[in-house]
Amino acid sequence: MGARVIAESVTKSYGGGRGAAGVDALLGVSLALEPGSFTALLGPSGCGKSTLLNLLGGLDRPTEGRVFVDGKDLATLSEDDRDAYRRKTAATVFQFFNLLPTMTALENVALPLLLEGVSLADADVRAARGLLDVGLADKEHAYPYELSGGQLQRVAVARALANEPALLLADEPTGNLDSKTGEQVLALVAGLVKERGITVVMATHSAEAAAHASRILRLRDGRLEP
Ligand code: ADP
Ligand code: MG
Repeated sequence: MGARVIAESVTKSYGGGRGAAGVDALLGVSLALEPGSFTALLGPSGCGKSTLLNLLGGLDRPTEGRVFVDGKDLATLSEDDRDAYRRKTAATVFQFFNLLPTMTALENVALPLLLEGVSLADADVRAARGLLDVGLADKEHAYPYELSGGQLQRVAVARALANEPALLLADEPTGNLDSKTGEQVLALVAGLVKERGITVVMATHSAEAAAHASRILRLRDGRLEP
């Protein structure tokens, strides 16, 4: 089941200590995302997309305002609950894949399961199933250097989905892929998340990529366009 996400007048400022001029990365952003919805955050470099994803993913806290996921204010979570939130509820896919180079595709996908205490045997079975779901059943034992960009991103998607997250955050997931490969990866992601009812937020500067979402929110200079 997908997460319901609400941001209320969220502002994020960086720096600004000791008289230095701070950067206002987000200014009064409010949004409400329905469970199972697929939203694109579209805007140019520097407009605050990654900052907003980091706040939704519990990687950072707003300077002002609040983020609620399934009714829980993320700022009120204990450190342990915040860690659990990042491991189990909100998963992220990155532009540069962030796979571990010394592990096979299967081991990369199994890792978050092992960290959750799943047994090695069960983790291997579930990771194999996850690779099958992204069309990489034949690449279980391949290392990242043996895979193409599109294949690397599919492994990263399988890894992100391993713990059955309620929220998937994708930060420029096609930014390092050619447009045809990017289209294929996004079509795959759109299908998988729809099937499972996962809420998705994808940051992108590409209108083409954003078109895969069912809703597009435009971000400019830290503000959502009305
Ligand atoms: P986007 O992902 O849309 O490219 P970001 O969220 O990364 O935008 O950045 C928004 C603004 O905040 C930019 O001006 C950026 O330079 C600034 N910024 C982002 N992260 C930091 C940080 N850790 N410290 C200081 N400034 C930052
Ligand atoms: Mg960014």
